[in-house]
Amino acid sequence: MTPLESLALARGTVDRVTEKRTDVPWLDAAWQDPGSRVLVVSAGQALVRTDDERVDLVFVPPRDAPEGTRFLLGQDADGTVYFGVSADLPAPPPGTRAAALREVGALLSDRDAGLLTHAVALANWHDTHTHCPVDGTPTVPDPGGHSTRCPADGTEHFPRTDPAVIMLVTDPDDRCLLARNAAWPGRRVSILAGFVDPGESAEQAVIREVAEETGIKVTNVRYVGSQPWPMPRSLMLGFRADAPAGQAITVDHEELAEAYWFSRDGLLAAIRSREIILPPPVSIARHIIESWYGGPLPSTWTEAGRS
Ligand SMILES: [Zn+2]
Repeated sequence: MTPLESLALARGTVDRVTEKRTDVPWLDAAWQDPGSRVLVVSAGQALVRTDDERVDLVFVPPRDAPEGTRFLLGQDADGTVYFGVSADLPAPPPGTRAAALREVGALLSDRDAGLLTHAVALANWHDTHTHCPVDGTPTVPDPGGHSTRCPADGTEHFPRTDPAVIMLVTDPDDRCLLARNAAWPGRRVSILAGFVDPGESAEQAVIREVAEETGIKVTNVRYVGSQPWPMPRSLMLGFRADAPAGQAITVDHEELAEAYWFSRDGLLAAIRSREIILPPPVSIARHIIESWYGGPLPSTWTEAGRS
């Protein structure tokens, strides 16, 4: 099957210039350059400017950036260097507001979606990994902000990412399995998902999670694409899988409230009658469902929240 394309948080045009993360003279010169751009992020949010057509990130020059943990995001084709700073957001200038990645990730340009996803992921890591896991000493960020070091024992620490699997399961009639998580309000449904266990492959996690949550044993697990989901630090690995005939759904009520098979016509009818609401376009779940369906579907969680 065709790999997923245009995933909202798997975009980006800025070169990460990873070789510059340890180049202190280069980093210092870039920070002194008034043309450099700094994105301030706090608790997964940044300032954005919204008009009818688009949403843009609001950057500040380095001299206006607040004190905070600084990290290099990359360099544009035109030479502009981008930094992130994890700190309280500045007071929003007129026409701007604070917005979360989850809210605006699908509305930003490719460049801005990539920068905000990268910055939120790094800021989340810095905010929650402040001490050495070996001896508890406060760690010190390296100049590029992509690792930290323990001044007591010299150990080096790198950003953490938690792999998670998300999978669309189909039965022999090509109906797809959608479920409502017990923690979700109202009529929201999605495909199944779960974290990869230590010492487990992604494919094994798909098989285990589907069986645990619905009692269905799947085969033919195949990868379809991925996107980062730094809320706070996941990488979503998308899969399709087949459910051989003759299996009944047995919902694990710890995690799921209900799970059902949907034909394409049945899904569209359930959406139109507002029995169910699909995840928003920023999610990989939405893309995998629409890829199975064969085109765009109406309704999202956010739209339903507005109406
Ligand atoms: Zn240490």
